[in-house]
Amino acid sequence: MGSLSSSYFEKAKTLIPGGVNSPVRAFKSVGGTPVFMKSAKGAYLHDVDGKSYIDLIGSWGPMLFGQAHPVIENAVKEALNDGFSFGAPTYKEVLIAEKICSMVPSIEKVRLVNSGTEATMAAIRLARAYTKCDKIIKFEGCYHGHGDSFLIAAGSGVATLGTPDSPGVTVSTAKDTLTAVYNDLESLQHLFEANINQVAAVIIEPVVGNMGLVIPKEGYLAGVRQLCDQYGALLIFDEVMTGFRLSPSGYQGICHIQPDLTTLGKIIGGGLPVGAYGGKAAIMDMIAPAGPVYQAGTLSGNPLATTAGLAMLNLITENLEVYTRLAEQGLKLKMGIRSQLDALGLSYTINQIGSMFTLFFTNQAVNNFADAKTSDATLYGKYFHGMLERGIYLPPSQYESWFISDAIREEELAKILQASEETLQQMFA
Ligand code: PMP
Repeated sequence: MGSLSSSYFEKAKTLIPGGVNSPVRAFKSVGGTPVFMKSAKGAYLHDVDGKSYIDLIGSWGPMLFGQAHPVIENAVKEALNDGFSFGAPTYKEVLIAEKICSMVPSIEKVRLVNSGTEATMAAIRLARAYTKCDKIIKFEGCYHGHGDSFLIAAGSGVATLGTPDSPGVTVSTAKDTLTAVYNDLESLQHLFEANINQVAAVIIEPVVGNMGLVIPKEGYLAGVRQLCDQYGALLIFDEVMTGFRLSPSGYQGICHIQPDLTTLGKIIGGGLPVGAYGGKAAIMDMIAPAGPVYQAGTLSGNPLATTAGLAMLNLITENLEVYTRLAEQGLKLKMGIRSQLDALGLSYTINQIGSMFTLFFTNQAVNNFADAKTSDATLYGKYFHGMLERGIYLPPSQYESWFISDAIREEELAKILQASEETLQQMFA
């Protein structure tokens, strides 16, 4: 008898393009049928066929404390009693804005939106208005959501599907997006030199999650900041993934580089749809109705989403030791898989920082998108399915980061390592 997941997927394909509402969920790059989930709690996802998995994607980042944390769950349940959406201001929006500004020092003012995509689209519109320049620079393999301007040499699901430029993005839009090589200051400088007084902003994932995990080299982000200052462009840190995941103030709190604008998403909504962009007050005050740059949203600042986000941020500031615990688990995972690879005489690359992690099936260091693309996607697919069979849910693509949650403790870590050992043995022994 077939699984419920496969029959649901067959039906889904007749009603939803590709059967999913976000491409990477379809298992295109790893093959096979996606697993339909029924529920999730703590470290575990439970599928519609009654099988459970240790969750290593955490909704692609938001679940820092694991799925359905009781504090967030109770806050949302309570908020439900007050209604779902008013289209008028609520005080919780002020409280979450205050919280974000207090946690991320470079953010003096912040605007809430509903997704990371909205945040990045608004941030570049604002940067263009502020600098009166049209062009933006992004980095090959970085993903900033599905706004037209960003679907140029993008990572994440775009990398997985092998569509570097999406049809439907006009040539005139594409010509205003320049792409540099990550971790390579010369390539950035070259673009600035070739486009003097035309670049509004550089947008960068300070740590990249969307080509698989890629970490900035020592001094690289300081160099990016310096070039932006030298050539008069704003620096936008897209911390949709890294914000509140790597530290309570994002990766900027670790590298001590102040961007002009920051985009946030994922954790900031505690699992409900929220994004945000913020930065220097002088820039943010150009946003309507304070200024002329239009940006709006019927559901922006939605009371349920804001409640979940505020509960999540409070949970973080009340449990700052979580970052030490997550980093320890990340390191143990790295060391455990490293020793399994060593035992098999394999030298595949592992990138890890805090609770973000990628095993690349390539022998070379992965510092940019070209490096990431040397990975053997077929091997990743085999590893993915070996882990899935053994009850571990990894990202269904080589070009994504794994996300460890605080619900993953010693017992779960042992299960992950056991599954990895068996899978690697099956693949290579
Ligand atoms: N920026 C980054 C760095 C992301 O990782 C993502 C999503 N993975 C986005 C923007 C887009 O966010 P969303 O999917 O919420 O639109």
